Amino acid sequence: MNRSDYDGIVVGGGHAGIEAALALARLGFRVLLVTQNPDRIGALSCNPAVGGLSKGNLVREVDALGGQMGKLIDSTMIQYRILNRSRGPAVQAPRAQADKHEYQAAARSAVENRAGLEILMDTVVDLVDSADGRRVEGVVTERGRTVGARAVILATGTFMEGKIFIGEYEASSGRLGEGAAVGLGSSLRRRGFPVGRMKTGTPARIAADSVDFSRMERQDGEDPRPFSFDTDPDRVLSRPRSPCWITFTTDETHRIIRENIHRSPLYGGKIIGKGPRYCPSIEDKVVRFPERERHQIFVEPEGLGTNELYLNGFSSSLPEDVQEAFLRTLPGMEHARAVRPAYAVEYDYLDPLDLFPSLESKRLGGLFVAGQTNGSSGYEEAAAQGLVAGINAAMKLLGRDPLVLSRSEAYIGVLVDDLTTLGATEPYRMFTSRAEHRLMLRHDTADQRLTPKGRALGLVDDGRWERFLRKAEAIEEIVQLLRERKVGAAGETADAADAGAGAVLAPHRGESLDKALADPLVRLEDVLPFAPELAGRPAEWMERVALDIKYSGYIAKEERIAAKAGRMDLIVLDENLDYRSIMGLSSESVEKLAAVRPRTLGQAARVSGVRQGDIAVLMVKGRRRS
Ligand SMILES: Cc1cc2nc3c(=O)[nH]c(=O)nc-3n(C[C@H](O)[C@H](O)[C@H](O)COP(=O)(O)OP(=O)(O)OC[C@H]3O[C@@H](n4cnc5c(N)ncnc54)[C@H](O)[C@@H]3O)c2cc1C
Repeated sequence: MNRSDYDGIVVGGGHAGIEAALALARLGFRVLLVTQNPDRIGALSCNPAVGGLSKGNLVREVDALGGQMGKLIDSTMIQYRILNRSRGPAVQAPRAQADKHEYQAAARSAVENRAGLEILMDTVVDLVDSADGRRVEGVVTERGRTVGARAVILATGTFMEGKIFIGEYEASSGRLGEGAAVGLGSSLRRRGFPVGRMKTGTPARIAADSVDFSRMERQDGEDPRPFSFDTDPDRVLSRPRSPCWITFTTDETHRIIRENIHRSPLYGGKIIGKGPRYCPSIEDKVVRFPERERHQIFVEPEGLGTNELYLNGFSSSLPEDVQEAFLRTLPGMEHARAVRPAYAVEYDYLDPLDLFPSLESKRLGGLFVAGQTNGSSGYEEAAAQGLVAGINAAMKLLGRDPLVLSRSEAYIGVLVDDLTTLGATEPYRMFTSRAEHRLMLRHDTADQRLTPKGRALGLVDDGRWERFLRKAEAIEEIVQLLRERKVGAAGETADAADAGAGAVLAPHRGESLDKALADPLVRLEDVLPFAPELAGRPAEWMERVALDIKYSGYIAKEERIAAKAGRMDLIVLDENLDYRSIMGLSSESVEKLAAVRPRTLGQAARVSGVRQGDIAVLMVKGRRRS
């Protein structure tokens, strides 16, 4: 083995691995992506959709930092919606159905065509470390190759010692039809890594020509907007579109499930891994919520060129004969045929408490871990971590400080901080409620928040940077105009009255448009007649300015709280601090802090079980970040 074979090796071509490999290569490093099957790079294992509440924000943040996921979904979407439109902007987010085959092809093409990035079809079974055992130096593959690198990123998804279950049937597999990655999990266990088991499940895929759509509710999307700053809005508008449908479980569905629950591998005790609390199987829903008369099932096309439908909300690990029986109790599914059965998968993950906030292992320098391997669940969570791991592997190779985003800067900051401070004992999924500064983390502000960081890292090219600056300037111009123009002053025309805005605007006569707009009753279109120059500006920019104005009071309050919390993150703690030797710390705090080894006082304060008084004790041990 030659130590300098590659600068970085990425293990696994899933959503985390793609971002990690591309980021490293874009930053000029020579990268090898080792993956079990290159044909499955970017496979959407479960839901054929990207985005959703808080996940849509993650995609936009990945894009703003120079990642790939936004571009992939923009070029392959077949339905787009803003979720929670009727609720506040802090909890709205874009979601798009993908043509999963096109998505996969686009992902593979992005990886294959990236200069400096090579692909190897193989399975990594072990790591190579330095003579002193402190640094990773490469990987060993199933076919006996040893490949050297200065950084290794593990992104193994649901494949590490994966096992699938369908009733009594079980097989060594990471995804139905694909073998497990056997060997690496045991090597990591042997080396003392904190390896645990988790599980997740997926619903059956149904033949569309066996479904009676007239018995279901149709759901169409809306005019799409791009996730990526680089995508031309007309390009997503011209994408073909496909509807989804909604159906519901019935009394009969619930009866069949209850009568067969003893055949479930989960209830029978065969699966030991903890499953996703917020994405339960249909049998879990029926058992845990016996009072619910029905559960909603979204019927989503898997793509334009396929006959398969995905049943969102209907995952199961019951035997196939039971699945078939309860499937046919859904309205519209009376004659439905399953092309692929529902199944559960159990796999090894690594406790992310073992990682620094850079996603580098505390145990083995140069080893980074991302995605489902860290106990998270979801494509977007995986992509976000993959990008962070790829960037930070590059920063390490460059001898630069890692990228650690704060909780008030990005959902990515919340995700990484939660995982590395609290660990994961069940599959971690992002929610808006996990973020304490939701209004500051709106999906429409991701580019403003993070593009400058992406640029500083070297992941935002000149063209994009110039367009970003032009947009920022144009937005500032809109803000200025709204500050300068007054309600009822020059420019008042019949238009305002026509718009029915007379009554709501009456109390604001003589006020600037931005002040009037802060009134919850006044809409953007009510004030626009007083600033006719704004006609024709992109709707997305106008909406962003209007939201900033409407919520300026709340945002200012969030910023004050975030700044206060952020001050604690400026106090750096030595990673080798001997907590046992610090007088005055409670024994519970000593135990928790020694396990997490927080990098900042702020992170120490967020470790579960650490007392406020102990943080005061720790303060004297920290040093201020320069
Ligand atoms: C059955 C099932 C149900 C799911 N249900 C949900 C759900 O309900 N909600 C949700 O949000 N997410 C769900 N997911 C999870 C979703 O697929 C993942 O969150 C997402 O794909 C994780 O991305 P990743 O990059 O971490 O890993 P993956 O997409 O799993 O990719 C891992 C890749 O690494 C390769 N690999 C693994 N180990 C090795 C090795 N040692 N050597 C070489 N290559 C290796 C694999 O072949 C694979 O290509 C489900 C996944 C499965 C399989």
